[in-house]
Amino acid sequence: MAAAIALLAACSDERRVNETTLTVTRSTTAPTRSQDVAWVVLLRKWEDHMSNRGSHATEVADGVRRKARKQAELDLAVQPLERCAESLEKEVGAPRVPRYRESYGLFRTACSAVADWGRALDEAAGAGDAELIRNVDRKETRVGETLDEAQRELESSFLAVESLPIKGGNVSTSRIEPRFGRAMNKLVYKREDAAQIEVRCWSQEDWPKVKFEWGGYAGNIDFAGFAYDDFRVSVAPEYCASLVGLVYEQERPTSGLPLFRAAASVALLAHEAGHLFESETNEARTECQAVQHVSEMGRILGLGRAYSDELARVYWEDLYPRNPPAYKTPLCRNGGPLDLKPSSDKWPG
Ligand SMILES: [Zn+2]
Repeated sequence: MAAAIALLAACSDERRVNETTLTVTRSTTAPTRSQDVAWVVLLRKWEDHMSNRGSHATEVADGVRRKARKQAELDLAVQPLERCAESLEKEVGAPRVPRYRESYGLFRTACSAVADWGRALDEAAGAGDAELIRNVDRKETRVGETLDEAQRELESSFLAVESLPIKGGNVSTSRIEPRFGRAMNKLVYKREDAAQIEVRCWSQEDWPKVKFEWGGYAGNIDFAGFAYDDFRVSVAPEYCASLVGLVYEQERPTSGLPLFRAAASVALLAHEAGHLFESETNEARTECQAVQHVSEMGRILGLGRAYSDELARVYWEDLYPRNPPAYKTPLCRNGGPLDLKPSSDKWPG
């Protein structure tokens, strides 16, 4: 059972991500680095930091406008905004990996916008002049635009979006898996060809790099997969292998770890489908929907009704209870508030 728990343990808390991150970066000290997860993590932290500084300055400016706070406080609060580029340099620094460089340049551009905004905020709060206040709004919009652009550029340089061959069947190289993608389309959009959901199965070698780079920046990712870009799902190699066994090799394990793996891998597709379909970010709610979609997902994958029901039952009875706290809730039960078919007594669906 310990293996089953390890199989499903979510990697959602940041401490664990960072520990693993250190291991990853330490072991890849070759001069031609393909990634630098530590840099990505630092950048994320800096962004969060700047966002807090921005919220604080806005709050103080509101206070000054209402005459509840002093201009001197605001002068102080906007200083970190005006020194945005300096803090980027100091807290993050230039990336050593060439493909991150363009985004670093764009973050520097965003910093000019942040500094402009800080100055405008400082100037407008005490004056109460409508034109100056409109100027603050314009500068703030510019901050949002430049940051978006920098983030988009960075994410487009990540391994998780690199081009991959489309390959079905019993393969273990990194590829886009056509049948799993069509099955997810069917679950989410009710038609195989309704949208282009892309399931990316990664090789043993690529997966840790893909996972820790994306996770280092985006923060939370599910232990065995993650959904992103509105249409992509990346899946861990052992989960893809289990799905390949079920779908292409007609394997139907009935006991032990292979059965748990089968249930967990079908549930993973259902779970990531929830992130795409509902844009749901709450893991416990996403997971509760997934529990109720395991059987349907299995049937769509061609596993037959009886076996799909069995996978759903195993997932609900043996694996769901061992989920980490963020991935389960007492609200998830037959007739409970998260029951997708409250009038039916069939559970998990
Ligand atoms: Zn999730």
